[in-house]
Amino acid sequence: MAYKTTYPYTGEVLKEYDNQTEADLESALATGDLLYHEWRDSPVADRAQILHKIAQKITANRDDLAKAMTYDMGKLFTEAQGEVDLCAAIVEYYAQNGEKFMAQVPLESPAGRAYYVKQATGVIVAVEPWNFPLYQVVRVFAPNFIVGNPMILKHASICPTSAQKFADLVLEAGAPQGALTNLFISYDLVAKAIHDPRVAGVCLTGSERGGASVAREAGDALKKSTLELGGNDAFIILDDADWDEVKKVAPGARLYNAGQVCTSSKRFIVMADKYQEFLEALKDAFSKAKVGDPMDPKTDVAPLSSKSAQEKLKKQVDSAIAGGATLVYGNGTLDSPGFFFQPTILTDITKDNPIYNQELFGPVASVYKVNSEEEAIKLANDSSYGLGNTIFSSNREHAQKVAAQIETGMSFINSGWTSLPELPFGGVKNSGYGRELSQLGLDAFVNQHLVFEP
Ligand code: NDP
Repeated sequence: MAYKTTYPYTGEVLKEYDNQTEADLESALATGDLLYHEWRDSPVADRAQILHKIAQKITANRDDLAKAMTYDMGKLFTEAQGEVDLCAAIVEYYAQNGEKFMAQVPLESPAGRAYYVKQATGVIVAVEPWNFPLYQVVRVFAPNFIVGNPMILKHASICPTSAQKFADLVLEAGAPQGALTNLFISYDLVAKAIHDPRVAGVCLTGSERGGASVAREAGDALKKSTLELGGNDAFIILDDADWDEVKKVAPGARLYNAGQVCTSSKRFIVMADKYQEFLEALKDAFSKAKVGDPMDPKTDVAPLSSKSAQEKLKKQVDSAIAGGATLVYGNGTLDSPGFFFQPTILTDITKDNPIYNQELFGPVASVYKVNSEEEAIKLANDSSYGLGNTIFSSNREHAQKVAAQIETGMSFINSGWTSLPELPFGGVKNSGYGRELSQLGLDAFVNQHLVFEP
């Protein structure tokens, strides 16, 4: 059985789920398609009412959902509670703004009267990862629910309990059958779903390998896709940065969710005269971070999501060191059945180092020394990824000028990365294409249907 909950703190398998079959997929597609046709003739306001109820139910089940996530993939229970709160806010945001976002859009044309209406397109397949088991689903489910696109969810095989709990909650809150169907299916059945005429598109968050494979199927089937892939985000500290703020924000920007965030700060870029001071401060913070039981509110760093994630990260850090990088702190896996990885700092990573262009999905910070702002920008852009970045400067205009020169989908000024319902999320280059959240996320799988009369 591929789908199972293995508690990363103990390594114990807590629950296994049978794989579902082609017949289950067919039933989900038929139910979803029926609902799509029903929803086409029903007002957006009706769906917004149900979304309100889903938001309330998410909040009412806060600890239960949070616990499922902690047991599935090991994240700190307190961080999981925060994730649930953010998800309730996202659902409520679309409940409140859905009608406005779906309104008819007038167009100016000297040739006549023109406007476009927004229409649903059909069933959407969502392929989602384990790092934020609820948030990753909610940020595509809520906008598509408002649009009227039913969703089939193929969640990561390591977080089946979170996936099923949320799908059940959606139904219990009053959503119709087919609005969100969670399926424990193979990659082959995902491909089959993408090729099915009842499916209008597919969205994936995850690795480049997974993204390329799903996008290939979508291309073959002439279906729309959106991809939110990895990142190697720079944290650029300009010479006029507020150092107290930098020292306060930098450790959390890397260690949150045990470093398993696509947009967490992975490459710290520091001017030469402040380099040593920054390194000492980061080392001090990393050495004080308590690694341990994710249910203990005093723990700072949870275990990684799986044994394979731990092994992959260890291999990457070892290869970096073998390739000439300096290990400043960490690189331990702890003598424990849990999938722990010590907060780790690497420096002296040259362009030919194997990890120079790799995403390290765990609590590992790479610190780079530069001699000028120009060099900092060049280094930040020297990546196959283009998701986000952080810029620290006490001069807002200065920071904005630098932000305009960075090739990413998002820039955060004087703060670590963040995600809010009203802000678009997504990247460029190998970090993917398309946006989630905000009005842009809602428009991803909408038919913008032009009506013109000369
Ligand atoms: P994957 O891309 O393998 O998994 C993400 C999701 O895609 C899972 O549901 C997975 O299913 C599914 N999937 C993968 N390949 C296919 C396919 N060919 N057809 C259908 N579904 C597919 O990522 P991993 O979990 O293996 O993580 C590997 C790396 O990806 C990380 O180290 C990190 O660099 C990056 N990543 C980025 C994330 C982000 O937020 N951008 C989140 C997670 C990972 P299944 O679980 O069954 O394999």
